[in-house]
Amino acid sequence: MTIETVGVIGAGTMGHGIAQVSAQAGYQVVLYDVTKAAAEAGRAKIDKTLSVGVEKKKVTPEAKEQALAKISTADFLEALRPCQLVVEAAPEKLALKQELFKSLSAICASDAILASNTSSLSLTEIAAAATHPGRVVGLHFFNPVHLMKLLEVVRAFQTSDETVTRVKAYGALIGKELIVVKDSPGFASSRLGVALGLEATRMLEEGVASAEDIDRAMKLGYGHPMGPLELGDLVGLDVRLAIAEYLHAETGSATFRPPQLLKKLVRAGKLGKKTGEGFYKY
Ligand code: NAD
Repeated sequence: MTIETVGVIGAGTMGHGIAQVSAQAGYQVVLYDVTKAAAEAGRAKIDKTLSVGVEKKKVTPEAKEQALAKISTADFLEALRPCQLVVEAAPEKLALKQELFKSLSAICASDAILASNTSSLSLTEIAAAATHPGRVVGLHFFNPVHLMKLLEVVRAFQTSDETVTRVKAYGALIGKELIVVKDSPGFASSRLGVALGLEATRMLEEGVASAEDIDRAMKLGYGHPMGPLELGDLVGLDVRLAIAEYLHAETGSATFRPPQLLKKLVRAGKLGKKTGEGFYKY
């Protein structure tokens, strides 16, 4: 079954971006959220991003209108019935995702692909809630979706080869570079990224160097576009701490033991850019 219509669940930070890149690649898109207002707000964000693209001459006005015309919004899950691929980007809660995958199993065709954009949860546990779990897969996009090149395809224990082949074709059409990883805590991207961020935090705590110099080491010496501490401030230190705690509990590895400094900053409400202070002051 070729993919013609893509459903997106959750029109937030990630969902609206996934809807946008899918529509720009020519897919029909159904953007679902719990309220019509939330779904429409997602569509409005797409309109805004595409308008910036037009201003910067990266998108033609015609391409913008064509993409927007392909996106319909909905506040009822049954609207996803015609979709051959559904990408779930609802809040990061296992029970909620399992409930959604159970409902989708009853709504969509038995060979429709059901994907989750989870950044940390077990795809294998999510797939266990679906019928025909071989069609469940992780499609881990990065923020902002329209700019970040990587798409991490996560194979649950149950994911079939056919599902991986089909999502690879979708990923190529939306212009992403794909990596395929086995379902394991932190996948490939977060496991490495968080390890680097936590080690940088421990180095700051030990007084090895200043935050600026630790970040400069990675930017100038390793060609990273952003240092690990700056990146932590951007992602949010509360988010980083939650992922570290999860990875530490799952793997038992000291690599992921949350550093005291990270805990202290979070307890003090210094969560990074969003609160005006983290490793740096903004
Ligand atoms: P968000 O809070 O911006 O958006 C979530 C959306 O889901 C909201 O629009 C909300 O109204 C909607 N929603 C709430 N309850 C729902 C329900 N019961 N059913 C359907 N939709 C519901 O969150 P986000 O940052 O877009 O994250 C979504 C998912 O993507 C999470 O699993 C997260 O871990 C993952 N993710 C996030 C990032 C990131 O940088 N933000 C990166 C990669 C993956």
